[in-house]
Amino acid sequence: MSLLDRVKELDAKYRFMNAYAREESQGKGLLSGYAVSVKDNVCVKGVESKAGSKILEGYIPPFDATVVAKSRAEGGIIIGKTTQDEFGFGTFNVNTPYKVPLNPHDPERSTGGSSGGAACLTAVADFQHVAISESTGGSISCPASWCGVVGITPTYGRVSRWGLIDYANSLDKIGVMAKTVKEAALFLGVISGPDKYDSTVLKAHMPDYTRMGSVDGMRIGIPREYLGEGVDPKVEEQVWGSIKKLESKGASISEMSLPHTKYSLSSYYIIAMAEASTNLAKFSGLRYGLQMPIEGDFNQYFSKVRTEGLSDEAKRRIMLGSFTRMAGYRDAYYLKALKVRTKIIENFKRVFKKIDVLAAPTMPVVAPRFDEIAKLEPIQHYMMDILTVAPNLAGIPMVTVPCGEADGMPVGLHLMADHLNEIKALDAALGVEQN
Ligand code: GLN
Repeated sequence: MSLLDRVKELDAKYRFMNAYAREESQGKGLLSGYAVSVKDNVCVKGVESKAGSKILEGYIPPFDATVVAKSRAEGGIIIGKTTQDEFGFGTFNVNTPYKVPLNPHDPERSTGGSSGGAACLTAVADFQHVAISESTGGSISCPASWCGVVGITPTYGRVSRWGLIDYANSLDKIGVMAKTVKEAALFLGVISGPDKYDSTVLKAHMPDYTRMGSVDGMRIGIPREYLGEGVDPKVEEQVWGSIKKLESKGASISEMSLPHTKYSLSSYYIIAMAEASTNLAKFSGLRYGLQMPIEGDFNQYFSKVRTEGLSDEAKRRIMLGSFTRMAGYRDAYYLKALKVRTKIIENFKRVFKKIDVLAAPTMPVVAPRFDEIAKLEPIQHYMMDILTVAPNLAGIPMVTVPCGEADGMPVGLHLMADHLNEIKALDAALGVEQN
């Protein structure tokens, strides 16, 4: 059976794909033998790329995003576009007019979001596969942990975003998912580094991510605010179990405090929505995607297209985001949120003077059931991100690695390191994987 036929067979069962690429022949390089899936918000030449939104339906990029071009150059086979929450707006991958992927460990439960399709496919692939995914506030870590795979969110600026359909530019990071730490590290090396099309990429030294060390002598900090209230005790038990094993391998463990954690959700959602509300302004039915018969004046036309093409969640974010940056409210909301963000960065910088890696649960609970999600208010959706938004605001690298099970569902351990220290988080993740 061909690779693409196998992907289609699995997709019929788990619903992770928005569009398929054309069959291509195998090239040579670091990814030779690997299928590469691409989150729907990353452009692939000749394949519909719509970031999970109806407003981009029919948009076929005439170019490859840099991460896609780099994957092809190393022999990776691009297989298609994985489903996601519209523009990345969500935590359960249910905010989409397209397929809602099913958790491979229990089809009644969410894969997590917004890169749910990527995590689902990574978990079920019975062939060599790596996934291009993207995180703004936790969209790699959350689904990777709920589906029981490895996810790397690199330092902000490590990976080119040329060809990414953006959500919030000061937060967006392209990263990877894979079944093992080694494969994820290898793939991160392939897509990282300078790009003449993206001047925001850091010109910092790039280590060989696959040369991981041991955890012997590693200083691991446990952030007090990430445990206890709100975290399922069964999840916490698994997390502590794996931390104790790292200790038995020579790591030292100490408790730390990140006191501004309690402000991270409000700061994140104000900044993310403010940026999203301006980014979405370009989708007006003229240049990209959805078009309708032109009637009335331009405002009437734009309203019609946007009413039809954007979901309620996208509209909510446009309204809230526009509000927080309006004259008169800007100081009280948007600028305040930026100040809080600086405090959060300082919190991390302070602890990373004393430790190498922070370890915490990736998500406070295991993947919830769809019937539970249906009962949640939007604000309760946002609250689910409590453990992932702070490191995303700070732009530090993070790796989630499976560390056990609770109620038969996978639990992820979140390993966070200082800017550009992906390798330290990877060392710790490898230690957990070998447990
Ligand atoms: N759940 C968060 C949000 O809705 C993060 C999503 C993401 O990282 N794209 O904004």
